Amino acid sequence: MAVAAEIPARMQAVVVHGPEDYRLEEVDVPKPGAGELLMQVEAVGVCASDLKCYHGAAKFWGDENRPAWAQTGVTPGHEFVGRIVDGDAEGLALHGVEIGDRVACEQIVPCEQCRYCLRGQYWMCGPHDMFGFRNFNGAMAQYMAVPTRARVHKVSKDLEPAHAAFAEPLSCALHAVERATISFDDVVVVAGCGPIGLGLIAGARAKNPRLLIALDLDDDKLELGRRTGADLTINIGTEDAVAKVRELTEGYGADVYLEGSGAVPAVAQGLNLLRKLGTFVEYSVFGSDVTVDWSIISDDKELDVRGAHLGPHCWPAAIKMLEDGKLPVADICTHQVPLAEFQKALDLVGDTSGASVKVSILPNA
Ligand SMILES: [Zn+2]
Ligand SMILES: [Zn+2]
Repeated sequence: MAVAAEIPARMQAVVVHGPEDYRLEEVDVPKPGAGELLMQVEAVGVCASDLKCYHGAAKFWGDENRPAWAQTGVTPGHEFVGRIVDGDAEGLALHGVEIGDRVACEQIVPCEQCRYCLRGQYWMCGPHDMFGFRNFNGAMAQYMAVPTRARVHKVSKDLEPAHAAFAEPLSCALHAVERATISFDDVVVVAGCGPIGLGLIAGARAKNPRLLIALDLDDDKLELGRRTGADLTINIGTEDAVAKVRELTEGYGADVYLEGSGAVPAVAQGLNLLRKLGTFVEYSVFGSDVTVDWSIISDDKELDVRGAHLGPHCWPAAIKMLEDGKLPVADICTHQVPLAEFQKALDLVGDTSGASVKVSILPNA
């Protein structure tokens, strides 16, 4: 096959050796087995979770309360798009794609055998294999294998690669928005205007609530929040968000709070600015335990508190939003670096001065 002939035997890939020990190495290009595909990676976004894993967070590497979930020897990267360059007829038919198509894969690789998978709740799959963390190499490499159990979605080639790779965080944000069951008359507050927060804003905008408010500490990110669809923004560093939301809601408080900042104080803030019988959706992963007055949830307000994880059933909608140009994605995807500069990409995500929003690696640039 003409395309296959161009595939090299060796490639550059980032390999995890342990916390704060990620190395760029030359490794074999994977050979797709029966039913598998080979992807040439175009872009891979660097997620806050990649950074937490890099720095050794207990969620990934375990502690006295939980076993390690992440593995060494794996190539990181779960927010990616690439071109299908090889695969047998079985694999192409299984995933509904052709050689040359641009695709994104969902980050989770479901086992299809556990109770959750069998009930269609594949995003909560028990073994929880995930590209870039566990059992499947991710996209911080020039090529990656697409296994038979991958969930593959086609993406338009008209999008810039880094923009197309934003489908992953956007699908996660859209699922969190779905968990909130927003009504037309709702006042919705989004905490955080980073990549997930902006996705929450875009998703909540699509639900068209009465008022959509975004919170952040950074004026530039708040401006981006307005351009993504927020009706108004509150800088929580200079304004009292709880007082301002009460003022806007005849003293009642917001109907829905979408937490996408990962900042510990954002949890108490949300409980305090919601009205009674309001809905709190938590998307973030936290670096430390959060302590709040739990009785706000019960006695004071009878709140609905819901978690959200990954982007089940939201990938087609996320891809369509990107293809339709519904987000200012050129301003969201602030940095693209070559694979050799993966360390710089991690450092940019860790830089809290507001220098970056979404940082991406282009492994074949
Ligand atoms: Zn991610
Ligand atoms: Zn499963």
